[in-house]
Amino acid sequence: MTPRVVVLAGGVGGSRFTLGVRAALAARGEEEAGAAASLTVVVNTGDDLWLSGVRLQPDVDSILYALAGENDTVRGWGRAGDTERVNHELQAWGAGWPWFTLGDLDLGTHLARTGWLRDGLTPTQVIERLSARWPLGARLLPMTDAEVDTHVVLAGGERMHFQEWWTRHRAALAPERFENPGIGDAAPAPGVVEAIAEADVVLIAPSNPVVSIGPILAVPGIRDALRATAAPVVGVSPIIGGAVVRGMADVCLTAIGVRTAADAVAAHYGARSHGGVLDAWLVAEEDAELSASVDALGVRAHVRPLWMTDAAASRALAEAALSAAAV
Ligand code: GDP
Ligand code: CA
Repeated sequence: MTPRVVVLAGGVGGSRFTLGVRAALAARGEEEAGAAASLTVVVNTGDDLWLSGVRLQPDVDSILYALAGENDTVRGWGRAGDTERVNHELQAWGAGWPWFTLGDLDLGTHLARTGWLRDGLTPTQVIERLSARWPLGARLLPMTDAEVDTHVVLAGGERMHFQEWWTRHRAALAPERFENPGIGDAAPAPGVVEAIAEADVVLIAPSNPVVSIGPILAVPGIRDALRATAAPVVGVSPIIGGAVVRGMADVCLTAIGVRTAADAVAAHYGARSHGGVLDAWLVAEEDAELSASVDALGVRAHVRPLWMTDAAASRALAEAALSAAAV
């Protein structure tokens, strides 16, 4: 039987891992049997923003483009072969953010999205439309239809949008905390709770625990759904050898008082047996000595290679996560 897999994901780590899961499911010969119906990706929308009149959903688009094979693998974000004519024109007008590049093809996505939102479609419906363009082999769901963009509150009390802090300031300003205004009143997007409840396995991608997975878990109802599902919940450490392998997630972890270590992130998510969300946690070979402290949390540690260096490595990692769940 086709296992029903739900992945919780952010952008870069999330999309690499999601490609691996899709490949692992296809390799099981389940492509024809309906892999599309069996893989649901619940995507962080805490990165979203309004800019130059259009709605951006960076993590959704990273996963959409990666699954479509349309992503820029060299740059690591946006569309392959994109150009920046409109961006230059916006800069000449002094519009938008000069440090935040909007590619021409990417802007096509944002215009389509914004037009459909204006027509009254929900973000869930918009993502369904965007997804229909390519055979993705997965269903993408936003974590919520509410706008809960992440804000960073600095030590001095100054507040800015997460994208300004991350992209303009390269996470160099000491954050005091991260907030998603309105998230306490947000609801999971339609289908999210149902997908988790009906899953055979739930995988937490090696994404930023604070600003990618954190907002997903903060949507009221999602954490409860993870705690209630009969499916095993397996997470993959985004920390290898005590370091974030790409990006600046360590600054985010420090701000919330979590060490940049595989066992500390597992403790942050917590064991389902102790009020948390994890049953098992994939730890890098480099961190093998931490597996005892993960086990001590009540989370089964599985030591595996965690580098997603290419498609084969991502697929092997996804296979390892699925076998840790014994599906
Ligand atoms: P973002 O939304 O674009 O920031 O991307 P994510 O939140 O999905 O993923 C960012 C995180 O992915 C980083 O903090 C890294 O710790 C993690 N990551 C990136 N590449 C790898 C990899 O090859 N292996 C593992 N285990 N984690 C990775
Ligand atoms: Ca993100």
